[in-house]
Amino acid sequence: PISLLNDPSLLKTDALVNGQWIAGRSRFDVNDPSTGLKLADVANLGAQDAEAAIAAANAAWPAWRNKTGKERHAILLNWFQLLMANQEDLARIMTAEQGKPFAEAKGEIAYGASFVEWFAEEAKRVNGETLPQFDNNRRLTVIRQPIGVCAAITPWNFPLAMITRKVAPALAAGCPVVIKPAELTPLTALAAAELAMRAGIPAGVLNVLTADSDSSIAIGKVFCASDTVRHISFTGSTEVGRILMAQSAPSVKKLALELGGNAPFIVFDDADIDSAVEGAIASKYRNAGQTCVCANRIYVQDGVYDSFVEKFAAKVKALKVGNGFEDGVVQGPLIEDAAVDKVQRHVDDALAKGGKLLAGGHRIKGQFFEPTVISEATADMLCAREETFGPFAPVFRFKQEQEAIDAANNTEFGLASYFYSRDIGRIYRVAEALEYGMVGINAGVIATEHVPFGGVKQSGLGREGSSHGMDEYLEMKYLCMGDI
Ligand code: ADP
Repeated sequence: PISLLNDPSLLKTDALVNGQWIAGRSRFDVNDPSTGLKLADVANLGAQDAEAAIAAANAAWPAWRNKTGKERHAILLNWFQLLMANQEDLARIMTAEQGKPFAEAKGEIAYGASFVEWFAEEAKRVNGETLPQFDNNRRLTVIRQPIGVCAAITPWNFPLAMITRKVAPALAAGCPVVIKPAELTPLTALAAAELAMRAGIPAGVLNVLTADSDSSIAIGKVFCASDTVRHISFTGSTEVGRILMAQSAPSVKKLALELGGNAPFIVFDDADIDSAVEGAIASKYRNAGQTCVCANRIYVQDGVYDSFVEKFAAKVKALKVGNGFEDGVVQGPLIEDAAVDKVQRHVDDALAKGGKLLAGGHRIKGQFFEPTVISEATADMLCAREETFGPFAPVFRFKQEQEAIDAANNTEFGLASYFYSRDIGRIYRVAEALEYGMVGINAGVIATEHVPFGGVKQSGLGREGSSHGMDEYLEMKYLCMGDI
């Protein structure tokens, strides 16, 4: 399928530094998670290349910064249009390297491109402030300026959207960027970068350092230690987020971190059960359960527990699993063998502790795992504490509203949460009590480009998307003018 691109020149395997495609000193394999077959060998860059990319970005910065917001808007809008014009090809590349169903991949291209469109518009709205003077001889203003060279380290679960959500606001603000995409999905990143070049983004303003896992660690160290890099935006595991934070302490670097989640999904007695079942399926099984906002723990109130579980398990059994290029497939493979092992470990642990298997439970073959439901889940199970990141839904039973809130909040994470209720008083009480950055109320899918996406507690720092998404990349400067 990857050989069927309308525009084969979108399949890039070299890295992009200062407008040049470079082969690197060594290469690494990128495989199709559906078949295990090799798709491409990609440039494996290292610490020295990272230094060169940072220097190139810094050199390209003044000219980019000095463009007007409207000029940057026009270039970003070109990029948006090229991403959408090449939606099919980009989705093909994405399904091949990441595994998600082709329709879902096309959806991600549109979602990823929407950040470019949104921040293209925001580029025109970097406004300052005028403040009242504290004596009549002075005038006080605040201007906002681009922070400088930015680095972005991104994960494999959204190979385009996690890049554009960082890169588009940085570019719009007037900052150059060095991206280190996930080693499992670099091809989507490189294709998007090729389109960025065609859109007119100048050499050095956007650089992509592809690297295997060892080289990624080395490049991460260079980003953190660099005095030229002023901001690092990372999406990935909490564990790696902590490493980057610790490594960035000596250079006191500004960080944006989108880390793990452990999303609760609560269904109260007064909910619309059919709608809750639909929401739970969409939230849990999207991307084979591999998103940081996927429902990880489903809590259902006693009065509707049996009917919810019965309807939910019946729908889950009907989900078609397979190669993302096959018609009707809604769940592809997991990204790696280790991911399959983790799901199996959580399922086996839940069964050993008294869970009741209602659907799935096993590896199908290769990296495919059955969509799984277990009822009578309890707080001592691994799935209650850890993010499964796979197609396994444990369903817990509760009686009182407060009991569900306490269980939902009993985690170090605080990214997305969901609940279903039609009682307006309860909706306000529960929405305010959940210690999460995002709450879906009678909604299982909540992300879009013009809302602030992000978490509290150990789920991270900062928000992406929305008008607030630009703040990361702009520094405020206070001007106090005397002798008026
Ligand atoms: P996931 O669990 O989503 O694979 P990771 O946090 O392991 O998340 O990886 C997310 C991104 O972070 C990838 O691009 C990966 O290469 C990169 N990465 C992993 N470890 C490090 C590290 N020590 N320093 C810098 N980047 C890293």
